[in-house]
Amino acid sequence: MKSVEPEVHLIARPQLDYGEVARYLADVGGQSWLERLDRGELDNELNDPQNLAEFAGRLCYRSWEPGLNPNVTRVRTDQDAYLTNILSSLHGSVLEHVSFSFVLHNVSRVLTHELIRHRPGVAVSQESLRFVRLTDLPFWFPEWAQEDPELMKRATEMLEKMEEFQLWMADHFGLDEEGVPFAVKKHRTSFMRRFAPEGVATGLVWTANVRTLRHTLEARTAPGAEEEIRLLFGKIGEVLKKEAPALFGDYEVTDGAWIPKWRKV
Ligand SMILES: Cc1cc2nc3c(=O)[nH]c(=O)nc-3n(C[C@H](O)[C@H](O)[C@H](O)COP(=O)(O)OP(=O)(O)OC[C@H]3O[C@@H](n4cnc5c(N)ncnc54)[C@H](O)[C@@H]3O)c2cc1C
Repeated sequence: MKSVEPEVHLIARPQLDYGEVARYLADVGGQSWLERLDRGELDNELNDPQNLAEFAGRLCYRSWEPGLNPNVTRVRTDQDAYLTNILSSLHGSVLEHVSFSFVLHNVSRVLTHELIRHRPGVAVSQESLRFVRLTDLPFWFPEWAQEDPELMKRATEMLEKMEEFQLWMADHFGLDEEGVPFAVKKHRTSFMRRFAPEGVATGLVWTANVRTLRHTLEARTAPGAEEEIRLLFGKIGEVLKKEAPALFGDYEVTDGAWIPKWRKV
């Protein structure tokens, strides 16, 4: 039995092609917006997730600078203020362009069952325990459980027994013998996984857009949420706050609960 901790790895974020953005802006007369980025007038380094959200928002009203759209006589030039206005006016659809991909590693099937209830704006590729044979049973124990020696002793014994049964079944079914067709391995492996606990640690790639991330961050760190998913989303929130402070800076964290200033954009 391997004791593990749920981990979050951010593996992909948006990247703007500023050359193409410039070509588009030259056509509509909005080059000054890009020049502002070039001059470093934003107090952050080029932040592609934030720039993408701002770009999508400004395209809607052609608000790159005053006058391009005769209806627009003033524009916000500060990105933080611009994106804050997007959040406060609940103009959340522009946030759907900005997606982040995470590897959620060493998370249980308890957690993944709950995670996949969030449907719009997500993509999931989960480790298949039909294909991937369990040779051990990685398992997360919360701190309070680790501090209970009798619980740990009994839990470890049970997990070791289950591991031993996995190995016995693989041997009994002859899965490692020469020439066993993959279809047979898959069939038996799927049977065998039924004897793994729901707490077995596994993993997935989980991609979500910022609109979804804002909603799930709040829902899954709420005091009533399950403790592993709370822990995980706390980590996701920390990553996101660093990656795109203007899109996640309005959250107050109280006893692990991430509470946004602007709910449900
Ligand atoms: C603390 C907690 C406890 C929970 N307990 C249980 C439980 O006991 N049993 C259980 O079954 N589930 C439970 N859930 C799951 C919960 O019911 C939701 O299914 C889950 O949180 C997904 O969130 P969502 O409904 O906001 O949908 P998401 O898929 O995250 O969608 C986001 C938003 O998009 C909109 N939307 C999405 N799909 C549709 C649609 N088809 N039609 C209209 N609007 C849509 C809604 O406004 C929705 O809020 C729990 C969740 C939490 C956070």
